[in-house]
Amino acid sequence: MGVEYRHFLLPRPNRFLPTAAQLETFLKRMIDARWLPVELPSSEVNRSYRFRAHRAREHLALDAMPSAASLAEWLDRDTKLVWSIGQFSHFSLNYPLTPLDRWQNLDEMYYDMVIEWSPDYIYRLPDGIDPFDRVVCPCGASLEIDDSELHIEEPVRDLFYTSIIRASCPACGRQADVSDWPAVVRDDKTGILNVVPGGATSRFSLIVDCGKGYPSSNRMELKPEIVALFRETFGCDSYECIEYY
Ligand SMILES: [Zn+2]
Repeated sequence: MGVEYRHFLLPRPNRFLPTAAQLETFLKRMIDARWLPVELPSSEVNRSYRFRAHRAREHLALDAMPSAASLAEWLDRDTKLVWSIGQFSHFSLNYPLTPLDRWQNLDEMYYDMVIEWSPDYIYRLPDGIDPFDRVVCPCGASLEIDDSELHIEEPVRDLFYTSIIRASCPACGRQADVSDWPAVVRDDKTGILNVVPGGATSRFSLIVDCGKGYPSSNRMELKPEIVALFRETFGCDSYECIEYY
């Protein structure tokens, strides 16, 4: 187990990608409910252009929430929106995770709120989730771009530090949908194995990345209001998973 902590909220079905209008509504509602800051003192958008081989990553400093028009333009590219909450007490925000251990000082907590998406699948393997047995199209072609190959094959696609599963087959063009692919999930405490369709692989996610500043050593959950807002705005179901790294 690592010492840094990430908490994921993923849509079900795994193939889900929001529209720009849904995404804009979600960001506004997250601000209204004080899960995201109005002012963006240290925010940035990291965008990865898939086809510009000589440009590893573009970083945009934002001083305002991206418009629906910008979001529409970005939805077909690997994108990561990052709000860095360097010190919780500097923002008038609600803390997104629960529980908070008594010895923790909330004022000094820090974390990144991250929203990321890809037109392909971000192949995450957080704690307890095994890889898919096979990542191939029915025609036999491999759909996986291994993260160690990303720098060689598509050097701009290292935004997520994971492998990528292509949403369409490079050989036959068939669409791939990992939503029903079985993934074995282990509960480390009980040892119980479950099969979770799609695992933690998705095209869209909300992430609370706490680094070393996580609030509890007990099992943490997102505040239920965030999960409800996510499901209601996007009209989807959801799945939470965690990662110590
Ligand atoms: Zn194929």
